Amino acid sequence: MGSFSRWATDSIAAVIGPLVGRYIRAQRDRLALTATPLSEISKLRLRQHFSDDDLERVRVALANPLPITDPPFYPLFRWLPLDIPEPSLVDAITFDYVIAARETMGFPLLFHEMVHVIQYRLLGVKAFARLYVKGFFAGGGYHGIPLERCALEMEQRFINGPEPFDVEGEIAKWFADKLF
Ligand SMILES: [Zn+2]
Repeated sequence: MGSFSRWATDSIAAVIGPLVGRYIRAQRDRLALTATPLSEISKLRLRQHFSDDDLERVRVALANPLPITDPPFYPLFRWLPLDIPEPSLVDAITFDYVIAARETMGFPLLFHEMVHVIQYRLLGVKAFARLYVKGFFAGGGYHGIPLERCALEMEQRFINGPEPFDVEGEIAKWFADKLF
């Protein structure tokens, strides 16, 4: 898989990051109008990993296909040698505190998207967008993005074991290690 130099990824992130941030806020605000809170069962299942505040404020928008437009420059990216998913065909995608999903999510997927909700809160939409774009190009595509690797790692830990862990604390460790 191809990847780009640090100078190139920083430059691309500086230019495209703000556009992606604007795109994320627009999707969030539009989807929030019809999105609903987590079910009581979901809150109960996730309360050992997330704060009540986060579980209360998150919203879920269900639609198949996902009613979202392509991010800025997406048609161009499809020509690059990158691991790149189709936004409307992914199982779920998170815009700040709004999770858009094609079908009712199983707990591992909901958990994964909740990790992104916390990342958004800690970073803000602007920095999240810049780091996501930067990680995308530096890592050669979706699976190389540190924000995704962080979420995938914790999702796997959630699947593997019953013992509780604090997602926000774990994300803070990723920050400390400069993995973003
Ligand atoms: Zn993810």
